[in-house]
Amino acid sequence: MTDIRTRFAPSPTGELHIGGARTALFNYLLAKKNKGKFVLRIEDTDIVRNKEEFINKQHQDLCWLGLRPDESIFWESGIDTDEKNHEYYGPYRQSQRLDIYQKYIQQLLTEKKAYYCFCSPVELAQEKIEYIKKNKRGNYQYSQKCLQLNEEKVISFLQEKKKHLIRYRVPQKKNYQFIDLVRGQITFPGSDIEDFVICRNNGIPLLNFAVVIDDHLMKISHVLRGEEHLSNTAKQLVLYEALDWNPPQFGHLSLILNQEKKKLSKRDKETSQWQLVSQLREKGYLPTAVINYLLFLGWHPGTTQEFFSLSTAIASFGLTSLHARGAVFDLGKLNWYNNYYIQQLSLVEFGKHAWKIFWKEYQLSQAKKEWTIQIALLFRPQLNYFQELITLSWYFFQEPREEKINLDFSELRKISQLFSKIEQWTEENVKKSLTSIEKKFFSSIRKKITGENRGPELAKVIYLLGKEELIKRLEN
Ligand code: GLU
Repeated sequence: MTDIRTRFAPSPTGELHIGGARTALFNYLLAKKNKGKFVLRIEDTDIVRNKEEFINKQHQDLCWLGLRPDESIFWESGIDTDEKNHEYYGPYRQSQRLDIYQKYIQQLLTEKKAYYCFCSPVELAQEKIEYIKKNKRGNYQYSQKCLQLNEEKVISFLQEKKKHLIRYRVPQKKNYQFIDLVRGQITFPGSDIEDFVICRNNGIPLLNFAVVIDDHLMKISHVLRGEEHLSNTAKQLVLYEALDWNPPQFGHLSLILNQEKKKLSKRDKETSQWQLVSQLREKGYLPTAVINYLLFLGWHPGTTQEFFSLSTAIASFGLTSLHARGAVFDLGKLNWYNNYYIQQLSLVEFGKHAWKIFWKEYQLSQAKKEWTIQIALLFRPQLNYFQELITLSWYFFQEPREEKINLDFSELRKISQLFSKIEQWTEENVKKSLTSIEKKFFSSIRKKITGENRGPELAKVIYLLGKEELIKRLEN
């Protein structure tokens, strides 16, 4: 069997989205399952929309998830996992591969498989309008006007530096077929594929062209990517044929949908703050939970097992268990996983996460660390993600508003005196004092000192509020 090499190929126009993270995960698992390599390739040919900062952020987010690439633009730096005792397939950034693409574009021009197109955007728009007027229907394709130009004309246009594109001449007009790893056989009618552009006037190739060259030269064996790339696959198959190369195996994962079963969008109110990996990290989701959750967006183990670490996922992963059912982004499920993994943390790990969140919110002094961790532990069983601690425990950090309760001033005074008599402020002693108060007063006491009707065990809340603060709030 040939070596398994997979890749994740983001365009750095934004931060790592959960859709991208899922693509990366499946490619990572496939590579690792087969002792292959997982490559991170940066597709930055869209100069206007790309930002350098996103390259680093995407890489960091991948590493946070545990999906560290074996080969990437950081080849030299030692960040990649790979031991570097094999061939180098870089550069791993498309903007550094322009010479390579040019070589193949020239080859296709020489072989007359590609041609210069000097039509301006205005002419092309005009051509389209006229076509639609005449044909009533919208499946316009480029007229191949520039294919008719004779060689002298082409040379003189090039000498005049007339603006041009380069188009691939799609041969007439067979169907293109492949077996999708997720969806089975897929056929693209050749008649639907126009003479598409492979290179812009500035010499920068279009994505479909660059992807084919890169996947081939980087010896990528399998490409798992989102369903939205299916129409690209048609053009890419045409180019593989043109260059006489074998295509990799493709698998197209279903789109991630929102609760209305529409494509997940940044504007979805419910999930807009949950779609970037960095948002999840900031909110205090654990990478193990995110991985476990993403795993089930398009894959099923065929058993009832629900919990997978990255390493058990590698062991269980198989292409035959990929499925094309729509993957709905279900926050409840993500929270359920995260809650589960929060309960699995050691006390030390749990404390680290909790302290980080509290510190970020309140910039507390180190002396408060143990206290905040004790507070966090009160909420641990119910916690979906660490950021929730801030809303759940607000009353430890700020006095509640005056609330109407069923205790009059003298009753409150008595309760307060009971607690002031405690000499050694321990949870045990607080509990003891509480036993001498009638149970029916507990909810009023809670309301008075926390502003909430419900919460963790009252004795623990009182103990952690501290004697002074408690008395202040009772007598207020
Ligand atoms: N760079 C493309 C994107 O971010 C992915 C191309 C591919 O996977 O083939 O959408």
